[in-house]
Amino acid sequence: MQFIDLKSQYAALQGRIQARMQAVLDHGQYIMGPEVAELEAALAARVGVAHCITVSSGTEALLIALMALDLQPGDEVITTPFTFAATAETIVLAGGVPVFVDIEPDTANLDASLIEAKIGPKTKAIMPVSLYGQVADMAEINAIAARHGLAVIEDAAQSFGATYQGRASGGLSTFGATSFFPSKPLGCYGDGGALFTDDARLAQAAREIRVHGQSQRYRHTRVGVGGRMDTLQCAVVLAKLERFDWEIERRLALGQRYGELLAELPVQRLAVRPDRDCVWAQYTLFVPEREAVQVALKAEGIPTAVHYPIPLNQQPAYARFCCPDCTPNATAAAARVMSLPMSADLSEADQDRVVAALARALQR
Ligand SMILES: *Cc1c(COP(=O)(O)O)cnc(C)c1O
Repeated sequence: MQFIDLKSQYAALQGRIQARMQAVLDHGQYIMGPEVAELEAALAARVGVAHCITVSSGTEALLIALMALDLQPGDEVITTPFTFAATAETIVLAGGVPVFVDIEPDTANLDASLIEAKIGPKTKAIMPVSLYGQVADMAEINAIAARHGLAVIEDAAQSFGATYQGRASGGLSTFGATSFFPSKPLGCYGDGGALFTDDARLAQAAREIRVHGQSQRYRHTRVGVGGRMDTLQCAVVLAKLERFDWEIERRLALGQRYGELLAELPVQRLAVRPDRDCVWAQYTLFVPEREAVQVALKAEGIPTAVHYPIPLNQQPAYARFCCPDCTPNATAAAARVMSLPMSADLSEADQDRVVAALARALQR
């Protein structure tokens, strides 16, 4: 069994993916070819925003968003320590200071009620992460940001396709940033990402930053990066979009089914708030004695993963930004989270096998 089954997805989409890639090889516009604008239009429409800017990765999307917001050295960005390193890394790369706020113990998302106490004169933005595919408390976070004149960047790398109060993840704040890393809910066959915004000025800034800060060829009006997404990768995502609605339905159904099957076991499931869904970029739950459970599952051929074993404020690179025990819920979650195999092509039979093996592992 695979942790994420990308082979079945390719088998189902092979003809479309190959035709899309062949079209790029035929026209030869490998950089900024027509598939780039086509994908940006399709994604902007899907997310319900005016502007989509494809970029070379989810990490680059976050960095470009911060650069477009004109983050200055020492500016503070409030975020969660319980995330992939890219979230805090880009804040530091942009010259900013990550200010870590603890998570809710049941959703593992940023606890919005703790944000306001951390806002000071240097605070410039809030960067919540929609972890595991569930959007954080964006209404509360947007309201706090509006009161204090801050920008909000949603790290939607794991939540593309999720909805929140009937609206799409990525389109809920100043910027939404997503990733097309192969294992994400919508993945390409390499690195890729996208930014979403309704603000025409910020969209223009992001477009310029993506190509070395050029407003026209060889006119560099700002400092930028080499951040374009390849035409070939855009072609792959365009092909995958044709099945994406079905995949999201499958993810929601499999997540629901995991929840029902796990209800009798001594594990804590992730809470999903009633006004949103979770697209389960990983199906993550809280288990006791995680290492022993992982070993037992591995012995039965069932792969698991830990997202994430160490909160960022306890990582050597980020320890200087926060004391190690200032975010106790993140520390507790890091000790107990475990992710089970999940993808749109996971079969119910395999899902049953996972849960049966987990039940045996927990009985030991
Ligand atoms: C994957 C991920 C990123 C980075 O995306 P890349 O495309 O791998 O650069 C950023 N934030 C979170 C929460 C992620 O899961």
